[in-house]
Amino acid sequence: MLPERGSHLSKHIYLDNAATTRLSKEVCEEMLPYLTDHFGNPSSIYDLGANNKSALLHARKQIAHTLSCEPQNIFFTSGGTESDNWALIGVAEQYKEKGKHIITTKIEHHAVLNSCHYLEKRGYEITYLNVDEQGYVDVEQLRQKLRNDTILVSVMLANNEIGTIQPIRQIGEILQHHSAIFHTDAVQAYGHMEIPVKDWHIDLLSASAHKFHGPKGIGFLYVNNNLKLPSFLHGGQQEQGLRAGTENVPAIVGMGKAAELAYEKLKETQSQIAQLRDYMIYRLENEISFCHRNGPRVNRLANNVNFSFEFVEGEALVILLDMEGICASAGSACNAGQTTASHVIQALHIPDELARGTVRFTLSEDTTKEDIDDTVAALKKILEKNRALNPRYQAMIKTAP
Ligand code: PLP
Repeated sequence: MLPERGSHLSKHIYLDNAATTRLSKEVCEEMLPYLTDHFGNPSSIYDLGANNKSALLHARKQIAHTLSCEPQNIFFTSGGTESDNWALIGVAEQYKEKGKHIITTKIEHHAVLNSCHYLEKRGYEITYLNVDEQGYVDVEQLRQKLRNDTILVSVMLANNEIGTIQPIRQIGEILQHHSAIFHTDAVQAYGHMEIPVKDWHIDLLSASAHKFHGPKGIGFLYVNNNLKLPSFLHGGQQEQGLRAGTENVPAIVGMGKAAELAYEKLKETQSQIAQLRDYMIYRLENEISFCHRNGPRVNRLANNVNFSFEFVEGEALVILLDMEGICASAGSACNAGQTTASHVIQALHIPDELARGTVRFTLSEDTTKEDIDDTVAALKKILEKNRALNPRYQAMIKTAP
């Protein structure tokens, strides 16, 4: 018997869905037969294996349907990190005779940034675009940075920390008049918003199942028909010979189902989550002093709430929230006694005293209004206690008129 949806979370308020999501019960049920009876290798020619090949095709079709593309455009990978690595390193390798210039942004996930650093060490030149105080890329700046030798532009669809949704359609339009390949890291966006890859002229798109109630360790790379990427893993003929290795059938089946479920009820789920997001933002902005919302009010992921609280450290807040049974994530890390804001928060140019106190709350369809009320109440209590211990806060309170 599978547990009821969310029952295992009864003691927790889980507000870290950008880190990972609960595996949906329906997805788990779909996967189970492939972990037990249907164990054949999809490359085998007898039924036990060949049936699994059909399961792979079904999952590919389920995903292709959500993007309005063809099943052959979907390449299964081990997740967002692999998809990003393949997109960046693959394009760099394939088009190196044409140029060695790549454009990306300062607020990408490390899967993109560290792939860029890898390429820099191998002679590629990377332009890292700035973002404004809400985390938006300046499309004009991007246009100006394009050169004849620019082979790739990689801009994330939605930011994993602050939820900003980038003007991907406009960037795609600009790149219509340039030969650079357009990659978008949609790991936080896929399953949470419509992504018309063809209309937006996206060549490559990365996604990861565990961000939309699918299993961990599985994702995909969308590759447009006109593009030929080099093999990423060398071996057998799986994934059109480009990504060798026996397929993770249960996980792929789970990802297909999770994608289908996410898009079946996308509008209603996302609007329900967005309402709670706006309620939480409203309460924090109106009831807590010395705090700052990161990311825009609209045009942000439906599930993302990110705030910087002055006079406290983000990591400490997360630990204290955990003691209240609330899971959230810090936008700063403490190393050797020194608290540093994440590269995303730093790119927003907010004062350091604020940046150090950054916390991200990411909601899901499981989140209730009571969860938000309890979280706001816990935050108020924790902030009151902790700020009282901060000499800077005390001094400020004393001198306040
Ligand atoms: N890209 C973004 C924007 C992410 O948020 C993440 C994970 O948090 C990744 C890539 C990496 O995905 P995965 O955990 O599937 O490797």
